[in-house]
Amino acid sequence: MPTSPIKLDKSDSSIVLTCDLCPWWSALAIGKPNAWTSAEQHERIAHPELPQVYRQARYERESYARRAAAAREMPREPEMSR
Ligand SMILES: [Zn+2]
Repeated sequence: MPTSPIKLDKSDSSIVLTCDLCPWWSALAIGKPNAWTSAEQHERIAHPELPQVYRQARYERESYARRAAAAREMPREPEMSR
């Protein structure tokens, strides 16, 4: 698993992103998909020498999207078809 220099600091309402390689940079995100999008953008712009890092961000985002889609497809009341 590649390690990202970006750290996510979660609070109740938002996620603060910081980067080990860029002490001057931080970002605020609402929700995990938003946080990973910000992380991916920062990594692509500031750290093009680390392509594996934003692949990890994309993986995290897509696995989150898959879980959300799976939750939507879950039949809530299977008994209703009778
Ligand atoms: Zn950085």
